[in-house]
Amino acid sequence: MNADSLRKILDLEKQRGYADTAVFGGLDKFLRNWSARAVESIGNPRLLARFHKLFKADYAAMTPEQRSQWVQDVLEFSGEMEGKDSTVESPPQKPPRKKPVPGVKKTTAPAGGPGLDSPVTIVRGISTSLSGKFGKLGVNTVRDLLYFFPHRHLDYSKMKFISQLAEGEEQTIVANVWQAQETRPGGRRSTEAIVGDETGNIRVIWFNQPYLAKKLTTNARIMLSGRVSLFRGLHVFQSPEWEIMEGQDLVHTARLVPVYPLTAGLRPRQVRKLMKDFIDLWAGQVTDFLPPELRKRLGLLELPAAISQAHYPDDETTKNKARVRLAFDELFLLQLGVMSKKRDWQESRPGSPFDIKQPIVDKFVKSLPFTLTAAQDKVLKEILADLAQSKPMSRLLQGEVGSGKTVVATAALLVAAANGYQGAFMAPTEILAEQHFATICQLLSRLGQEEGEGYIKSYTGFLERPLKVALLIGDIKQAGKKQIQKQVLEGDIDIIIGTHALVQKGVEFHKLGLAVVDEQHRFGVEQRSALREKGFNPHMLVMTATPIPRTLALTLYGDLDLSVIDELPPGRQTVKTKWLKPNQRESAYAFVRKQINEGRQAFILCPLIEESEAIMAQAAVVEYERLSREIFPDLKSGLLHGRLSSADKDAVMESFRGGGLDILVSTPVIEVGIDIPNAAVMLIESADRFGLSQLHQFRGRVGRGKEQSYCMLLAENPSEVARERLDIIENVQDGFQLAEEDLKMRGPGEFFGTRQSGLPDLRMAKISDVALLELARTEAIELFQVDPGLDKTENRLLAQEMTRVWAGAAEWS
Ligand code: ADP
Ligand code: MG
Repeated sequence: MNADSLRKILDLEKQRGYADTAVFGGLDKFLRNWSARAVESIGNPRLLARFHKLFKADYAAMTPEQRSQWVQDVLEFSGEMEGKDSTVESPPQKPPRKKPVPGVKKTTAPAGGPGLDSPVTIVRGISTSLSGKFGKLGVNTVRDLLYFFPHRHLDYSKMKFISQLAEGEEQTIVANVWQAQETRPGGRRSTEAIVGDETGNIRVIWFNQPYLAKKLTTNARIMLSGRVSLFRGLHVFQSPEWEIMEGQDLVHTARLVPVYPLTAGLRPRQVRKLMKDFIDLWAGQVTDFLPPELRKRLGLLELPAAISQAHYPDDETTKNKARVRLAFDELFLLQLGVMSKKRDWQESRPGSPFDIKQPIVDKFVKSLPFTLTAAQDKVLKEILADLAQSKPMSRLLQGEVGSGKTVVATAALLVAAANGYQGAFMAPTEILAEQHFATICQLLSRLGQEEGEGYIKSYTGFLERPLKVALLIGDIKQAGKKQIQKQVLEGDIDIIIGTHALVQKGVEFHKLGLAVVDEQHRFGVEQRSALREKGFNPHMLVMTATPIPRTLALTLYGDLDLSVIDELPPGRQTVKTKWLKPNQRESAYAFVRKQINEGRQAFILCPLIEESEAIMAQAAVVEYERLSREIFPDLKSGLLHGRLSSADKDAVMESFRGGGLDILVSTPVIEVGIDIPNAAVMLIESADRFGLSQLHQFRGRVGRGKEQSYCMLLAENPSEVARERLDIIENVQDGFQLAEEDLKMRGPGEFFGTRQSGLPDLRMAKISDVALLELARTEAIELFQVDPGLDKTENRLLAQEMTRVWAGAAEWS
């Protein structure tokens, strides 16, 4: 049993203020389990006595002070246990069964199996130095290694006779070695062999591998997998995978052969061989945590079989079944986790129900220079209904840029203020915070009288008292900031707008009742929780312009309810989009020039370069210099990239917004999600490198003013798939439709980095698995209704798996 897992849990518990939330289903259950397993390995009687005393405790029944003391004691104890009685940590030297057939039988081992949390060094063939290399790949424990899945498989399963070999494709033969010798083609020490079967002979060459000559003895039977090419009119096998056939399981040839992610110092053959032995020995040790009834009903493979087949599949069909099982696990655990998080904070701590002062809302809505769209109307009703509950709102509001989310959020903030609560509005950047401040002030000024200037404004006309709105960003001078902070603390400010700094640094609220967070993808789970910790368990509205298909949103954000503004205000222009051939580059520049002459401004977006932000910045500098010297020497261009200081970024943005620049050259990583109505042209370089949703986001940066706007896409040599994307973006304006298309083409990791969002990793699940996503969700909801704490016997292993996955996944603090 691993003292490390206990320490992690206790640390988490400590961070969360001893609220008994570190483990799914409560700490006691976990402790009982942990101690039952740990006790066996304590030999020292003195330690054993202390152990029994400590673990008799009923954590749930303790006061927070007692809990803190107890956790302290246990942490100390576990340190001693490790220091003085190393048997606690020492893993079994080998798994109990010699060579289980994966997935056929299970041992009666406790959940997780013995040793799965042990370091990989206990695996035969993994030395300390090798374990370091695996460590670089994120593989530290036996379990990690079991879940260290190949990127893909090479299909070497189709056997051919030598006479049937064709050039180009991957093929496998079995042959006899006639002769093998070292040669030096072009000075490279290599091995050349002639091999044959009953249909003919073929030459084989392995460049740079002279040592093979000795291994391939005459008459050895070998299997070769690889590609055949033509050399001087004859077929030659070039550096194929090889394997001498001695009746054992094949590892490198004649099957679906795994291709593992590698790092320096790991060789493919070595890893494959090692993994084969490892999987054969260990996959059977894994205990299936899915309740058997569920697994059978859904026709999923058993976990040991799924793991083993994901590495060394028997065939394509089984490989897919293995992936489905493992993907289901990921999605199911994800869904259960987010649902239980939601329950934890929604039901354990009541929020503040607001009285929906409808006359105030109506007055605000009537004061607007437009009528709300039907979608805005519906969403506002959903939000107001939430605010009236004592269960704090936790809602994700999706809507394209310009769909009118801010207006709706402002109405909600007004209701908070009318109830005597404060509202916070958070933006991802200072520029956007300023913009929101300006927008909200403008919306409020329609009816109320505006007073004050700078960073605090006050409006009469909505409430009996003046409504005060403030902006808090780094730009404000220290004295002003102090003043605002003081007023926020004293409850003098009703609505405060700023960046994440609002929750991170020293801002204390008098009575925070509603938090609005703009741009979900910049604002992870942790920040959301931090915000809740600001006290009063505020209602929370998270807004995003990233169109996430409903199923996916519900899965990844199962802790949020979902509202969608799926309609733009009337009269919005569409951005004319055109994919240009490389030889139309000149005319693209001419078009930019023409638009600028007509008084517009243009964005030029530099290509996405995978290597690093530094290289991308460098490339942008070069492109900027080329454009401003050679193409547009007479126009005013500015440059924006991630390596600039935020002050410099702001200065460039300000200058562009103020019309001081005609062209803004920028890297794609830069947030230009800002309203510049006069910008009417977006030119995107190497557009084939971007996904559809990204292209759509970029395009959304123009088309905000009255003038017709344009988006031009340049792509030098697009692949087949990229052409398809470019065709779609040319013809489709609807962000949701684009997102759906996008998801069909890409995986979830790419579309939505789960790593950053504080959720467990999705490795096997693809977003195109819509049916599986829905299945996992339905099953999770059903299970949650019957057994929300996963207390039933048949769900015990699942509860443990939940704890493990979620404790490892996130600093969910
Ligand atoms: P979002 O936050 O979704 O990007 P905003 O709320 O900032 O959108 O609205 C974008 C622009 O559209 C603003 O200028 C806003 O005043 C305007 N707007 C919002 N709702 C409507 C509507 N129903 N009809 C017309 N214009 C609207
Ligand atoms: Mg907006």
